[in-house]
Amino acid sequence: MFEEYSGYRQAVRLSLWFAVWLSLGLLFQQVLLLLLIGALILLGYHYRHLSRLAHWLWKDRRLTPPHGSGSWEPIFNGIYRLQGKNRRRRSQLARLLSRFREGAEALPDAAVVLGPEGEIAWCNKLAELHLGIHWPKDSGQRIDNLIRLPKFSKYLHSKCYDDPIEITSSASSSWLLEVRIMAYGDNQKLLLARDVTRLRQLEQMRRDFVANVSHELKTPLTVLQGYLEMMAMMPNIDGKQVQAMSDQTERMKSLVEQLLTLSKIEVGTQVDPSMRVGMSGLLLQLKEEASALSDGRHNITFEVDEELDIGGDELQIRSACANLIQNAIHYSPQGSSIRVRWFKYGDVARFEVDDSGDGIALEHIPRLTERFYRVDRARSRQTGGSGLGLAIVKHALSHHNSELEIHSKLGEGSTFGFSIPANLIASSKRERA
Ligand code: ADP
Repeated sequence: MFEEYSGYRQAVRLSLWFAVWLSLGLLFQQVLLLLLIGALILLGYHYRHLSRLAHWLWKDRRLTPPHGSGSWEPIFNGIYRLQGKNRRRRSQLARLLSRFREGAEALPDAAVVLGPEGEIAWCNKLAELHLGIHWPKDSGQRIDNLIRLPKFSKYLHSKCYDDPIEITSSASSSWLLEVRIMAYGDNQKLLLARDVTRLRQLEQMRRDFVANVSHELKTPLTVLQGYLEMMAMMPNIDGKQVQAMSDQTERMKSLVEQLLTLSKIEVGTQVDPSMRVGMSGLLLQLKEEASALSDGRHNITFEVDEELDIGGDELQIRSACANLIQNAIHYSPQGSSIRVRWFKYGDVARFEVDDSGDGIALEHIPRLTERFYRVDRARSRQTGGSGLGLAIVKHALSHHNSELEIHSKLGEGSTFGFSIPANLIASSKRERA
């Protein structure tokens, strides 16, 4: 058992030491001299132990400290204990670090630990392969010096890492990587990069397939429709059957059209904000189309801010607004009211379609923008719906930094709307004049 340091014991020892020298001083009637001798001996004793300690700390390779006496024994033992504790902590940390590294090596993603300035602190094997990092040679190098892409630099310094970005690999331009950064601890960052080349290829194949099939179906459908129109005029043919065939061909044609629109919108990227979309003219056209579709069955009102134009893709915005208006007409009973509004709301521009129609149960709402998702298939078929309308709306809006918002209550009606952000709002016609 180690002797622990005690201030009290130290004070007793010191008092006893000087008491002895004081007694000797009194005995030989040389108090001051003998007290001085006592103090010098004490100083020599402490100096000797200090130099032994310094020798052990700096020169001696032994783990155990020199044997100390008196008040120095607990000090030597204390240092020895502290060293042991540090050694144990160090080996614990080393074990933890090697476990972390083993875990990071087992990740299916490239992982890089970055310092405050984006300097590489550590990376796994996949990071060497996918990001072209040479470890440990590139340790301390700034990652944006190795991945020299403006998109990546902007993302790294943006400090907003909510969404991942896609970049081409610096190791091979045919690899597409999805890069995500996570900030943690004291200004540290973890960069994860996943190879999404195959995934994107498959998505592209699916899109091409749908677009090609839809395109190929257009011609036979037009031929069919032509023959059906001719048949309808023949005297000895049942008009009802031809009409049914004609209706179904028309449905297939509109489905193919919707599929083609969706494929086109899907491949599009972020729109060019400098392309002005004249909303008042566009909504006037949609108003005429809406009254033709409703054919007097609904009370449709349009409230349009004529000065409010936006930048973007006119066809996509038209598609989004038209689908929402058509749905309101299709899913609202005769005699009900539909209100279409286009207005400035704070910083943003808002489009809203209110109807007092069927409404939608809460559980269906999150799935409405999935392709071919329909709440009531039979009802949707009756209205000529393809189940693609809201998927088109979702994609068109995402290219304008916007999202579809749906509020609905079963039996009471629905509000479908979206907001166009301030950066896409064009200066008003009055301002430009
Ligand atoms: P569809 O072509 O079938 O209308 P959409 O993608 O446009 O497909 O809409 C998906 C489903 O959402 C519809 O089948 C319908 O059930 C529901 N829906 C869309 N708009 C409305 C609305 N205004 N009121 C009630 N239900 C709606």
